[in-house]
Amino acid sequence: MSWAAGVLRAGRRAGVGPGAGGAGRAARLPRWPLAPGAWMGTVKAELVKPVSAEKPAVHNKVSVIGTGSVGMACAVSILLKGLSDELALVDANEDLMRGETMDLQHGSPFLRMPRVECSQDLGVTANSSLVIVTAGARQAEGESRLNLVQRNVAIFKSVIPDVVRHSPRCKMIVVSNPVDVLTYVAWKVSALPPARVIGSGCNLDTARFRFLIGQRLGLHAESCHGWVLGEHGDSSVPVWSGVNVAGVPLRELNAALGGAGDPERWDEVHKDVVASAYQIIKMKGYTNWAIAFSVADIAESILRNLRRTHPVSTVIQGLYGIQEEVFLSVPCVLGENGIADLVKIKLSRDEEARLRKSAQTLWDIQKQLKI
Ligand code: NAD
Repeated sequence: MSWAAGVLRAGRRAGVGPGAGGAGRAARLPRWPLAPGAWMGTVKAELVKPVSAEKPAVHNKVSVIGTGSVGMACAVSILLKGLSDELALVDANEDLMRGETMDLQHGSPFLRMPRVECSQDLGVTANSSLVIVTAGARQAEGESRLNLVQRNVAIFKSVIPDVVRHSPRCKMIVVSNPVDVLTYVAWKVSALPPARVIGSGCNLDTARFRFLIGQRLGLHAESCHGWVLGEHGDSSVPVWSGVNVAGVPLRELNAALGGAGDPERWDEVHKDVVASAYQIIKMKGYTNWAIAFSVADIAESILRNLRRTHPVSTVIQGLYGIQEEVFLSVPCVLGENGIADLVKIKLSRDEEARLRKSAQTLWDIQKQLKI
């Protein structure tokens, strides 16, 4: 196509020039040769020849609900891993949401960046493969835990049914606290199958556990194997019998490992796991990096269908003598359909009893909620 013909066709596509608005428009046709600044088609129309009018295919869209410190750290972690080809951000605070989105978009030249969009209309999340929920109210001074939970229930009820309406096939990772209770709430209000509603649960507690064991042994956290299960936070349960390095169970080297009478006081490691969130919050006001890396790791197993095991929160009714509909962390196999399998990890009597106690505490909260 000649340059001049191109100008004409581009003009027609843009709704200007001959043929676009009747005979009167023809008079405005530019004369050849065009002087600088004279009428011409758009640069885009000159540069590219449209080949396909199809909507762009989105394979791994991720949406993050809540663009606070945790939500944005999750978004960045997912972008840096190149896990998604489209990212949608939603927050009740419009300025924060738009500011964060623009800031991310401006990083496009340095990342293999997908489309990053935001809106307070949940339509922006449509066709997500994965939705990460980090929205939540902050605890007010003197506010009871139950009251905070109830306020978060209200947020979940206002957001999650709409999210599912736009992405009926999505998997959902709940991060907002108290994460085990809110994963139950998300499951109830979403009406999704339990395999597709996953609480980040003890994935972070386990990462902290492995890091702290590594600190004691002078090893990288990745080489220290061990699991923290049950309720995320204060009443989480470290499974000392399974702690090993290169297949060597540490209990074979110290039979009292993690228990009473252990001269090395390995139980301090788990106490530090529990204390660490409080310590970090005291120093910087919130925690965000480790939780975000751990969420991106969960997201990778799902989006790449890796079938790796993670200690995430799932409905545990029927296991370890627990009869209530509560969510607690056990090792779960994660893949493209969410939770594919649970690993029935063998627990000691004491560990089972602690899990049942957590389940009772959670159920006592859940049965008071107005969902
Ligand atoms: P934050 O206050 O910085 O962010 C929360 C965001 O949610 C805010 O930007 C707020 O505007 C938004 N929000 C509130 N209501 C909303 C609604 N209806 N729709 C959309 N957005 C809404 O808090 P944060 O530091 O990012 O923490 C987020 C949550 O993650 C908290 O509940 C926190 O306790 C939890 N958290 C969990 C873990 C874990 O291991 N599970 C670790 C760290 C933090």
